[in-house]
Amino acid sequence: MIGEQIVVGLGGNIDNPFTTLSSALDELGELATGEILVSSIYRSEPLGLAEAATDFANAVAQFECDLEPMVLLRHLQALEQKYGRKRRAGSAVDESHPSESSASEPRPYESRTLDLDIIAFGDRMIVESDLRVPHPRAFERLFVLLPLLEIDPGFRFADRIESLQQLVDQAPGMAIGKWQG
Ligand code: AMP
Repeated sequence: MIGEQIVVGLGGNIDNPFTTLSSALDELGELATGEILVSSIYRSEPLGLAEAATDFANAVAQFECDLEPMVLLRHLQALEQKYGRKRRAGSAVDESHPSESSASEPRPYESRTLDLDIIAFGDRMIVESDLRVPHPRAFERLFVLLPLLEIDPGFRFADRIESLQQLVDQAPGMAIGKWQG
């Protein structure tokens, strides 16, 4: 049987995020039952901040695994803790790198060591109090869409009719490119 393709998004902007994401991508591979596709690491601007903040590192990984969604979420949250995720409330709401407590109510911007989101879980549509899949804002975030386009150009969100390229074309602009050095 071909398992469900899971997409996980990674982001971080403090404590050497490139190194953190590289290690976290390796650890995600241990959850995969087979091959894991990993995007380049991108650098994106921290939008919506009144205070100075460092750029985000972002990436996505796509893999099959035999965990149920809530169990996968708990694994991802354990990884976030392992990498010493630090929450630091900022003074502005960031529409591009928000964090979600319910995935529907953006909270004020927070810098973080490592943030892991379930972007997609096969074709499943999950609406739980602590898990929404597909991730409700992934379709409009270039720091998710561009890495995903790199590893799986034919990917489609279960709840969107647009192609990935169309979503990229429609997404709000932001400064983003592959991480150089
Ligand atoms: P964040 O601060 O961005 O890491 O948000 C974490 C919260 O979002 C947790 O309470 C999760 O239960 C919830 N959440 C809802 N949907 C998702 C999702 N697709 N991936 C990861 N976390 C999610």
